[in-house]
Amino acid sequence: LRRNPGEAEFHQAVDEVFASLAPVLKKHAKFEAAAILERLCEPERQIIFRVPWVDDTGQVRINRGFRVEFNSALGPFKGGLRFHPSVNLGIVKFLGFEQIFKNALTGMPIGGGKGGSDFDPRGRSEGEVMRFCQSFMTELYRHLGEYTDVPAGDMGVGTREIGYLFGQYKRITNRYESGVLTGKGMGWGGSLVRPEATGFGTVLFANEMLATRNQSLDGQRVLVSGSGNVAMYAIEKAQALGATVLTCSDSSGYVVDERGIDTELLKQIKETERGRVSEYAERRGAVFVDSGSVWDVPATVALPCATQNELDEAAAKRLVESGVVAVAEGANMPTTRAAVSLFHEAGILFGPGKAANAGGVATSALEMQQNASRDAWTFDHTERRLEEIMVGIHERCAATAEEYGAPGNYVIGANIAGFLKVADAMLALGVI
Ligand code: NDP
Repeated sequence: LRRNPGEAEFHQAVDEVFASLAPVLKKHAKFEAAAILERLCEPERQIIFRVPWVDDTGQVRINRGFRVEFNSALGPFKGGLRFHPSVNLGIVKFLGFEQIFKNALTGMPIGGGKGGSDFDPRGRSEGEVMRFCQSFMTELYRHLGEYTDVPAGDMGVGTREIGYLFGQYKRITNRYESGVLTGKGMGWGGSLVRPEATGFGTVLFANEMLATRNQSLDGQRVLVSGSGNVAMYAIEKAQALGATVLTCSDSSGYVVDERGIDTELLKQIKETERGRVSEYAERRGAVFVDSGSVWDVPATVALPCATQNELDEAAAKRLVESGVVAVAEGANMPTTRAAVSLFHEAGILFGPGKAANAGGVATSALEMQQNASRDAWTFDHTERRLEEIMVGIHERCAATAEEYGAPGNYVIGANIAGFLKVADAMLALGVI
């Protein structure tokens, strides 16, 4: 706390992981002796930089850029870039810290990192977004490389932004280094299934959890929050598996659509027109609510896919009362610790983000594999790989929770399994 004042989300993420580790530290004295916990909390490198750009009126604007290169024991730093006005060092560090364990859980050779800026792309013209991305990369490029640090998208950073960032990287370095960024467009080095991967993976994870109780998503009434990349494809997959998704949201409010969200219309409004969910409600004849949250709607499964701490204890209480049987996090740390405790006490299946939403980064690693081999896999092949990876993550979490005396507790399973993988590698690499 003294070393990192004011980084509330970072403290929350570290607390949550460390609270799970007591049995591991008791069993293996080697980790304490090597100060693994202290080393895990201290990023290998943190870069903070000025991002100057000129808006459409000729006004010079200044934003702050971040890249936190947290841990590279398992591979190059890997994790997304977030462009959102709320971004600060504490948020980037919480995301980077989570990413270490998430990436370890995938079983792929990738370390953990995260970055972004307090730039708000909403309401900005194409030209402004491009100039901002170019300025951002003009500093960041010197820290990146396919063997060093490989960013991807996150909130506010999709294929369009990755394109402008990649273009500037290529221009400055004079290298067509496809593997330096993931989330690229299909025509220029991107991987099929990467856009869908986080949302699809979250739903697959939820279905695996339900299967342990001889249930499935078929016939469930599902709540999804958010309407961005993760939410969109979580909705699509859940409905493909027979569920009815009743809700989606953005920061202005939420939609209730008892017929089930029409994903084609939502994609048209959100991806093509860059509009708001209120427009979806209007065109679809669904209900738009501009207060409260999606968690007010009675349902059986909840998939928070918007942002951190969006599902608090009061919301969790309402979900428990309405009979929810499973919650899987598509977003990073959307559920507060008090809410998670409530779900555990009520016997509700709970899939933490570092396991449930790991399909995105895992498919980014598949994109890197395709780039390295100058290959492009089919949709079906890549989706099968994603399914195998999600089933593997679920098994690893479940088996580790069982081994450490907490059967069915995916938080403990994910934290311990991720920790062991990265901590063993850190020990092997010496005090660096
Ligand atoms: P997007 O920017 O595509 O979408 C974010 C969505 O969340 C938007 O609909 C946004 O609405 C909404 N939102 C943001 N803040 C709030 C709020 N306070 N209340 C309600 N809605 C809100 O981001 P992604 O879908 O990519 O990311 C969503 C989450 O998933 C993040 O936590 C991210 O870290 C995590 N994640 C993303 C991965 C990926 O592959 N993209 C991988 C793993 C995790 P508005 O437009 O109004 O801001």
